[in-house]
Amino acid sequence: MTSTLPNDNIKNIDEKISNKLISEIIRDRIKSKGTRFSANDNIADFINPGELKVLEKEVASRIKDLLKSLVIDVDNDHNTQETAERVSKMYLNEVFKGRYHEQPKVTSFPNDKNLDEIYTVGPITVRSACSHHLVPILGECWIGIKPGSKVIGLSKFARVADWVFSRPHIQEEAVMILADEIEKLCEPKGLGIIVKAQHYCMKWRGVKEPNTSMINSVVRGDFRHDISLKQEFFELVRQQSSANNY
Ligand SMILES: [Zn+2]
Repeated sequence: MTSTLPNDNIKNIDEKISNKLISEIIRDRIKSKGTRFSANDNIADFINPGELKVLEKEVASRIKDLLKSLVIDVDNDHNTQETAERVSKMYLNEVFKGRYHEQPKVTSFPNDKNLDEIYTVGPITVRSACSHHLVPILGECWIGIKPGSKVIGLSKFARVADWVFSRPHIQEEAVMILADEIEKLCEPKGLGIIVKAQHYCMKWRGVKEPNTSMINSVVRGDFRHDISLKQEFFELVRQQSSANNY
């Protein structure tokens, strides 16, 4: 007998009868496309509607196992009875939402007036986590733009930055990924990003240095080639950031 089901339906049925964990199903889809799925990659394109809820349950059961391995009495300790569910929701929908959820909608407009003066936006709050220890990275970010053919609203920079930072990261790569996303959205002639952040893997554990921060930047396009433009960008950020400390 020949099947008349479209390929996609056959694939869905195969997956339903496979008894695989939802994380395995999603991982298989990503691998079949040869796509990277590191901690700081977004994988929303590979998660079908409704599957995030199933993944939430799977992650919660793993976190419960983790708590048990830490010899915490999750059955009788009223403080930790729903911790696994809470942490799972927090990872998938809050602190790491930039991995599992699509990019917030950003509409770009043509730069009809040919604006070409640089401007900076900041400070934008950085809330992230280090991918080595999964503890917070908190700080501030500034974005400088020399407009190209498209422009986007100022608040959109903060939304895209929040989406990018809400993943496990190392700070150096986070800045590059944010720069890539902004370039895709508004194709600026020049782009600069500065991030200043404190890493709780240095504050809370390890060397326990409470006040050390890390500052890094990326400059692209005209900001890279034109030294005076680059200096103007850093000067504008200096003015914006004067009294802020983390
Ligand atoms: Zn760390």
